Amino acid sequence: MTLIQDKLKEVFGYDSFRGQQESIINSILEGNDTMVLMPTGGGKSICYQIPALVSDGLTIVISPLIALMKDQVESLRQYGVQAAFLNSTLTVKEFKSTKDQVINGEVKILYISPERLFYDQESFVRFLQTLKISLFAIDEAHCISHWGHDFRPEYTRLKRLKKHFPDTPVIALTATADERTSQDIQDSFKIKAENVFIDSFDRKNLYYEIQEKRDSTYKLIEFLRKREKESGVIYVISRKKTEELAETLQLNGFDALPYHAGLERETRDQNQNLFLRDECKIIVATIAFGMGIDKSNVRFVVHMNLPKNIESYYQETGRAGRDGLPSECLLFYSRGDVALQRSFIDSGADENQNEIMREKLEELVRFCESLNCRRKNLLAYFNETLEHNCGNCDNCNKEIRTFDGTEIAQKALSAVYRLKEGFGLNYVIDFLRGSKSKKIRPEHLLLKTYGAGQDLSKEQWNTFLNELIDQDLLKLKKGKFPTLSLTPKSVAVLKGMHAVQLSEIEQNEHIQQKVLEYDEKLYEMIRVWRKERADKLNIPAFNILSDKTLVELSYYLPLSKSDLLQINGLGHVKVETYGEEIISIINNFAQSQGVDSKMHSIGPKRTKSKSIKSTLNTSVLETNKLWQNGNSIDEIAEMRNFSPRTIESHLATLVELGEINILELVLEDRIQTIENTFEELGVDALRPVKDKLGDDFSYAELKYVKSNLVRNEKENFN
Ligand code: ADP
Ligand code: ZN
Repeated sequence: MTLIQDKLKEVFGYDSFRGQQESIINSILEGNDTMVLMPTGGGKSICYQIPALVSDGLTIVISPLIALMKDQVESLRQYGVQAAFLNSTLTVKEFKSTKDQVINGEVKILYISPERLFYDQESFVRFLQTLKISLFAIDEAHCISHWGHDFRPEYTRLKRLKKHFPDTPVIALTATADERTSQDIQDSFKIKAENVFIDSFDRKNLYYEIQEKRDSTYKLIEFLRKREKESGVIYVISRKKTEELAETLQLNGFDALPYHAGLERETRDQNQNLFLRDECKIIVATIAFGMGIDKSNVRFVVHMNLPKNIESYYQETGRAGRDGLPSECLLFYSRGDVALQRSFIDSGADENQNEIMREKLEELVRFCESLNCRRKNLLAYFNETLEHNCGNCDNCNKEIRTFDGTEIAQKALSAVYRLKEGFGLNYVIDFLRGSKSKKIRPEHLLLKTYGAGQDLSKEQWNTFLNELIDQDLLKLKKGKFPTLSLTPKSVAVLKGMHAVQLSEIEQNEHIQQKVLEYDEKLYEMIRVWRKERADKLNIPAFNILSDKTLVELSYYLPLSKSDLLQINGLGHVKVETYGEEIISIINNFAQSQGVDSKMHSIGPKRTKSKSIKSTLNTSVLETNKLWQNGNSIDEIAEMRNFSPRTIESHLATLVELGEINILELVLEDRIQTIENTFEELGVDALRPVKDKLGDDFSYAELKYVKSNLVRNEKENFN
């Protein structure tokens, strides 16, 4: 292990660096000015925190987000890092005392606002020059650029840092991918191209979904009902709407509060705080809410209205799932909202700018209406290519089914014929559905096809008519009032001489997969304890332990301090501070429920040679029993009211634990093929392996084989 890997494990409790973190850190340690473009949640902080910890002297972090500094500093202190901040919220006395700590070398990482840095004719800069500064980290570095969406004039003064501190490296970090902005940042600090690190903007843990905006409040409530314990942000278009929707949600029993720039400062801060502290689950906000949000366990972001463009959509949805756990992004889309956004744009004074904005809006419209993989489209927009469909978006979750639509087509064509080709799409649909509206002309009520299509919904008719247009069986005549007419191909269909295939899209429901089938009761017990602890310190609970750490704790049930050190997110200091309390909660739980630790299955990389005899988690045990009795996966799923996928993951666990022989689940020659592919592509991500193997192999089979490999590896290890 290298020194920096050691620090990562010892202080933060992480096993390995993510993405390019290690190269970035090495670049800084070699003294290079370095730039990092990484999406939200990518792990930017580690990139300057590790160098800060392994270098002599003080690291200065410059950030515009004053409101967050206290939490950030407290979060670092939880890891035992000597951190402090200086900004305008401190009293004179507090300021002096922090400054003294800095002088005495009691601070390793100092957060400071740019205003503070340059305050009073740069007297603070001169003060810093008397100290040993190992690194300047410039967070939210896009604020330096006019092109960025959040330009801050005081940031431009940072360009002078290199003059004052020619020998101190600078690391500029941002989550904004825009090319001009990144060029600006590079130029400002003369960062060499080879020291620019651009991470993938793929947020793998986010599920993207776009639904038609019809009955959206109702659909939203349905969505929220399935996520009652979870926390999320709902974006709406106006201040008024935030309050109205928050109220509607409250009336429906949800824990929702509004947030917008027009609220009294006190209310606004309070609502934000309640949200951060997990005392309010849902914030209904205008897009003003965001920059200040550093809550790691936001499980969903819903857009009730269309965002401005793809960048905004990406930024806003990006606030979900910073802790890496699966999270969802849902957008309600309508053409009406497109028109609304367009009218906002048109009211702008600068016509050049308006034109750019209109183009960007069009790109967003294409994105929303596309049937391709959302993630592929999204990344393509940021010039990134995704080789395969992601399997984790609504479009990847759609099934397109074709069927004999001759009868439907005949009804549609005959309606158009009987209406003498004089009416538009909506009229034809109303006519087919036998609408009682006054819009339908009296003479049409007597026609044979009136009401012949009652069995289909408006949306279905709309889709089918459009498909008939695509198949050149109907034509939409352009004009002020576009009308539907027949084509030369229509006759054969009407006469029953030509069959028509139509297609129907079926949206499979997205089932939130748990990363681990952890025990919810135990999770809840640790969560309650965490909340108490956090409240005492007046910090957000996820700053004590992240949700991800909670998931691991309540899955693996660690029972000693050395066990705890193997859990993601627990470094030495946290284990010293909280270890005994956590162990006692888990111990009590394990004894009262009669379950044992599962530390032995934590994976070869983390396992220590000492193996612990264990029994299984009760839920998995139940599945095991049913399986041994000869039930199929679907049967077990049905009996236990779980999804088949959950049962499959139980089976995978059972394979890993040696309770089930892999040959019961996968044929021998298939195991070989899958193993070969794992060998070639690694076992970390299943998707590439699945893509390579094709539709003939299921994810479940891959999981079983992977579990079996883990098992074999562990056996060799012990
Ligand atoms: P960003 O600032 O890029 O939005 P953060 O620095 O807040 O992201 O990191 C996001 C989350 O990922 C945090 O919970 C952090 O602790 C975690 N994290 C960062 N690096 C690693 C790593 N190498 N292994 C595991 N977790 C990590
Ligand atoms: Zn997809």
